[in-house]
Amino acid sequence: MAVSDPPADARHDDASYFWHGMGSPAEGRAKPAKEIASGDGIYVTDGAGRRLLDATSGGLANVTLGYSADAIKRAIAAQLETLPYFSSFRGTTNRPAEELSRRLIEDWFAPDGMRRVFLSSGGSDAVETALRLARQYWKIQGARDRYKFIALRNGYHGSHFGGASLNSKANIRRQYEPLLQGCFHIPTPCIYRNPFDERDPIRLGALCARMLEEEIVFQGPDTVAAFIAEPVTGAGGLVVPPPNFWPSVRAVCDKYGVLLIADEVLSGFGRTGRWFAVDHDGVTPDLMTMAKALTGGYAPGGAVIVSDRVAHHFDDAVLSCGLTSYAHPLVCAAIVAAIETYRDDGLVERAATLGQRLRSRLTALALAHPHIADVRGLGLL
Ligand code: PMP
Repeated sequence: MAVSDPPADARHDDASYFWHGMGSPAEGRAKPAKEIASGDGIYVTDGAGRRLLDATSGGLANVTLGYSADAIKRAIAAQLETLPYFSSFRGTTNRPAEELSRRLIEDWFAPDGMRRVFLSSGGSDAVETALRLARQYWKIQGARDRYKFIALRNGYHGSHFGGASLNSKANIRRQYEPLLQGCFHIPTPCIYRNPFDERDPIRLGALCARMLEEEIVFQGPDTVAAFIAEPVTGAGGLVVPPPNFWPSVRAVCDKYGVLLIADEVLSGFGRTGRWFAVDHDGVTPDLMTMAKALTGGYAPGGAVIVSDRVAHHFDDAVLSCGLTSYAHPLVCAAIVAAIETYRDDGLVERAATLGQRLRSRLTALALAHPHIADVRGLGLL
């Protein structure tokens, strides 16, 4: 067969050439991956022509607007005609990136005190950039020893080396060790399973915040750059922390000058019934990472939003990080259209209402069924 011939069997390509994330080739040969051929509304159609209701938001919780969000498609197509790409490193810029950054901070919903936006090509890039910004923040101030990061034991922060060093699960860390130096973990305030066997949410929230304080003191406060956590953990088991946890964490970070990074890659943009999960706690982080629902899955994009408190130290500092596809015009156009859709269609409020209904039904099921031990979630997450 000539190299350019069409494949006799797409499954052969899949098992032989295409490398799946979080899966092995042997697994793919034993059980061929299901091809998703097309999507419309909340449905997808597989390679065999079966129409399926997509209750997974594209498999990775990012297709929050379904597959027929015409406004986003039109925005991408229009931008494609005008300017598909040009770099936004120092000296050049593009309108969609500028407009998106301004509207994120001024017009929309970023918590008060947020000031600057760094656009990335996804969640892992956003986390990586947030970690770099945290370290550089301290370097700018001459605190060269402040390089350590503390995270939750149930956290997930992506696939790059920085995020992976802060991840919880051993199976996604061990093959790549040694990872980034100076990363430490504290227990997650999960009522269902916690190392203290504590069943009282408020006591558990206080206990875990105290663990953060103890870890900071143990490491030496002048060595800790930032605490990073998801306001509701995603991949680590959807832990919604007790209401006192984040406010207490904010207080501990303030006491020791440690930066607080909220990783909202999964919990951001309405899914919890508020624009961001930190909005439930009334806490303003120093840096926030976001991706997934930011683009509704229509383009690969993410962002770090940085508070004024941090950003103003960078006025004369060169940000020595950048990505070829960051601030990509097509992605930025998609994000503007996605956020307008959430806002104009009232989808954040809808997630809160539907989330309550889902929760009461699931709780009723759990009470009736001995095999269901716990129901966790916030809004439609
Ligand atoms: N942080 C969190 C909280 C996530 O859920 C994810 C993705 N599951 C990431 C970071 C990494 O994002 P991405 O896969 O877009 O790189």
